[in-house]
Amino acid sequence: MAQPIYPEYPPELSQARRQYLLTNLKDWSIAHGLAVRPAPAFVPSEQDPEFALATTAPVTLFPSLFPKSCFEEGLSIQTTYNKLYSAIASDEEWLKPIIEELLDIDSFVEDLWKVHLAVAKDGYVQDLTLGLFRSDYMVHIDSSSSPAVGIKQVEFNTIASSFGGLSSKVSALHQHLESIDAYPSHKDPLIPKGSGVQSSSVPLLATGLAAAHMAYGNSKESRPLCVLFIVQDPERNVFDQRHLEYELSSSHKVRVFRLPFRQILTDTKLDTDRTLLYHAPHDPDTSFEVTTVYFRAGYSPDEYNGEEDWSARLHMERSRAIKCPSVLTQLAGCKKIQQVLATPLSPHLTRFLPNRSEAERIEKTFAPIYPMDLSEAGREARKLASDSESASHYVLKPQREGGGNNIYRKAIPEFLRNTPESHWPAHILMEMIEPPAQKNIIFRNGELQKGGVICELGIYGVCLWKNSKPGGKSEILENWEAGYLLRTKGDQSEEGGVAAGFGAVDSCYLI
Ligand code: ADP
Ligand code: MG
Ligand code: MG
Repeated sequence: MAQPIYPEYPPELSQARRQYLLTNLKDWSIAHGLAVRPAPAFVPSEQDPEFALATTAPVTLFPSLFPKSCFEEGLSIQTTYNKLYSAIASDEEWLKPIIEELLDIDSFVEDLWKVHLAVAKDGYVQDLTLGLFRSDYMVHIDSSSSPAVGIKQVEFNTIASSFGGLSSKVSALHQHLESIDAYPSHKDPLIPKGSGVQSSSVPLLATGLAAAHMAYGNSKESRPLCVLFIVQDPERNVFDQRHLEYELSSSHKVRVFRLPFRQILTDTKLDTDRTLLYHAPHDPDTSFEVTTVYFRAGYSPDEYNGEEDWSARLHMERSRAIKCPSVLTQLAGCKKIQQVLATPLSPHLTRFLPNRSEAERIEKTFAPIYPMDLSEAGREARKLASDSESASHYVLKPQREGGGNNIYRKAIPEFLRNTPESHWPAHILMEMIEPPAQKNIIFRNGELQKGGVICELGIYGVCLWKNSKPGGKSEILENWEAGYLLRTKGDQSEEGGVAAGFGAVDSCYLI
């Protein structure tokens, strides 16, 4: 790896200053909900039977350095990315042949597709969809291009894009630490005080949910309205979700309930016109009409244990509530779609983004991604992936979300040797992005880890769109960029997921 961009950063901490910084960080975090439930390995359930304890979320002590031009580019192209993915999710005709290639080799994709087909057969009764997206990037240096520093997209998330709650909090934490002089003054004049950026993801994402809630309209039966968060249970990252809920109820006066995925069929019903009704177990006599279903669960095959769970997902999809996201929007987030879009000289991008300069800006963020099928590009990728020397520049990804599913670098050839060739096309092969080296200190599970780190920038996007007839053009009603997330991991780890146990939440110090 290259030399750190600023070898002096972060500045050294004396023992006393480290203590001051850490005490303030720990207390501020709990006082402001920059927190998670502890892992069962740390607090056995018999010691915490009510699941009542909370601990500081994994965070960096300092904001990490991030090139300003890259940060601004990510923010400014987000509304175009929103447009792109809302158009893809509305274009069944385009999606169908791509998804069909995965059906026999990926049963999760197949089951999701079946949900869509079942609803399409009777007809969708809600033409609005909400996307709370997150486009993830790493900084990429290419001395042969101008400018030499740019962003490359890691992936585009269309379901359960997390950490919008905690990202607002961690940037506020770092600003607080700076304001109380917890950081030593930087020797480098290129890193002046005040270079940190606050992320407004909490208010901006909550306003997206509120916009969907409003767009749903009134209840024909004058029932009270609500938004449902479909959640995993237990959920360690609950406070991240709660921040959005509290914002929605305090600033927008919207009722929100958390419904564990497993409780869908017991606690909700469809009325004759497929209006979704929710009966809270604590208040079973009140029938709430659900305007918007926000999925923070349902993205991983482990959550579906048989027919009943698939019936629950179908039940939601058939309903008249606005889905965030719809099944087709979830499928649009498949890594396979990202690979198809990234195919050089493909006509796909211009189908969705006819404005050439918009399409070019998006295209610039694509890293090389190859199919693993029997096409010419696929055969080339198979060769690269099967040789341990060439494979060391790549990551192999299945169509999964939530971290911990990829195969990295030299592990790829062996994985392929143990996988039937007929299943190889369920993956895509992506060139590893190698961001510039830098250092930071991560505080996780009560321990400090100091060393080289890799940062991943996520830009949130809100999009509400209307798709009145299948195959018809979608009409965008709301579209905005919704703040950022910086996640930082040790440079020895390939994965970066905070919830999956590999990284920390961070904020940007623009340079
Ligand atoms: P998931 O949907 O499970 O989050 P990702 O595509 O984001 O899958 O991959 C998980 C992690 O793997 C990323 O957060 C990042 O740290 C690493 N990663 C994925 N693709 C690349 C890449 N092309 N270059 C470098 N790191 C990558
Ligand atoms: Mg990811
Ligand atoms: Mg993802």
